[in-house]
Amino acid sequence: MAVALSDKLEPIYQEVLQRNSGETEFHQAVHEVLESLGPVIVKYPEVADRKIIQLLCEPERQIVFRVPWQDDQGRTQINRAFRVEFNSALGPYKGGMRFHPSVYLGIIKFLGFEQILKNALTGMPIGGGKGGSDFDPKGRSDAEMMRFCQSLMTELYRYLGEHTDVPAGDIGVGQREIGYLFGQYKRITNRYESGVLTGKGLDWGGSRARTEATGFGTVFFTEEMLKVRGDSLEGKTCVVSGSGNVAIYAMQKATSLGAKVVACSDSNGIIHDKQGIDVDLVKRIKEIDRARISVYADEKPSASYQANGNIWEIPCHVALPCATQNELNGRDAKALVGNGCIAVAEGANMPSTPEAVRLFLEAGVAFGPGKAANAGGVATSALEMQQNASRDSWSFEHTEQRLHQIMVGIHQTCHDTAEEFGCPGNYVTGANIAGFLKVSRAMLAMGVV
Ligand code: GLU
Repeated sequence: MAVALSDKLEPIYQEVLQRNSGETEFHQAVHEVLESLGPVIVKYPEVADRKIIQLLCEPERQIVFRVPWQDDQGRTQINRAFRVEFNSALGPYKGGMRFHPSVYLGIIKFLGFEQILKNALTGMPIGGGKGGSDFDPKGRSDAEMMRFCQSLMTELYRYLGEHTDVPAGDIGVGQREIGYLFGQYKRITNRYESGVLTGKGLDWGGSRARTEATGFGTVFFTEEMLKVRGDSLEGKTCVVSGSGNVAIYAMQKATSLGAKVVACSDSNGIIHDKQGIDVDLVKRIKEIDRARISVYADEKPSASYQANGNIWEIPCHVALPCATQNELNGRDAKALVGNGCIAVAEGANMPSTPEAVRLFLEAGVAFGPGKAANAGGVATSALEMQQNASRDSWSFEHTEQRLHQIMVGIHQTCHDTAEEFGCPGNYVTGANIAGFLKVSRAMLAMGVV
């Protein structure tokens, strides 16, 4: 039930379908952006004349390679890895690496495409890219993780550089994996090139507040959307899907701003704690024990665990999908709206299906799309690059303040752009147009390259 595209944009979309067959998530991400661009090509005919949209949909470079490694039993394992260097009009390719069995080229392309506009919205000098592998970290030992990361970097290093392509983490890739990747890059190149990867540990070039940044940023964005409506997070009931890095710090910040987070989840089930989720306990379970979220209910009598439960059926004022793509569908959106949800901000990338987004907008829910609401992570990666370039290290307070300013700025940009293009309150249109205009101005200025 996708929104129809204008006569000029539909053929561009058809070409994307044809050139990238079977890559459904990429199609979805492109369609969602094209839906917003109708008024842009009317106002700026040079965008159509110079085929800027077609160029934006075709990655500058796509790298696909094998990753051979040995498991703890001495068996040879083979995975496939990707790095899509999508667009470098605003700076070096920038975006995370995802390790998950669902990864294939279509997932990496959707993420890379989103990343171009997200990174543009941050106002920082970073282009868009993304990478990953179909490797499943679940159940793998520390030694296996190290061997896998080393083998992956043994091929990937030749495409990277602080001025070329700067990966970071995403699902399945945290500080431990960045450490193994950085160590191998340093060994192969004989360069201590801090700015080649972000999400590093504090002792070896990482930035304070980077770990917290995506979750904190999503909550800052939510706060801004509520402020426009004369409201705040104070006293709101909040549901956060996921229990990874993004979810944990979204829960922490929402709680510190006076909201009560009553539920979170992992891919096996959901935790409902009416007394409010104990974020420190979730942190210990997920980050130290690397266990399943079901353990939470064993330790907290106030909580219940439901295997395969639907988190979006729990009544809340604010919903923060922080798990993965397409985790919230039309039925879920109806349940949320029916139960009085007033705001949704996407901590994950494209967690709401197109139908869910449409329902939220129709119902007047304040809806923050991922490319705006979760941009705090990559923005703080750019702050990490800035610290690396100046061989400096900022305090937590200063870095968090910069992150806060950036999120307030992104919200303002999306809000004002939506208004300018006749869709007040529609942050989807605002984010797509503002991000697109910034990248396209740079592309136009640089000629046909
Ligand atoms: N993976 C994160 C994202 O989706 C962060 C990327 C980065 O820091 O480069 O934006």
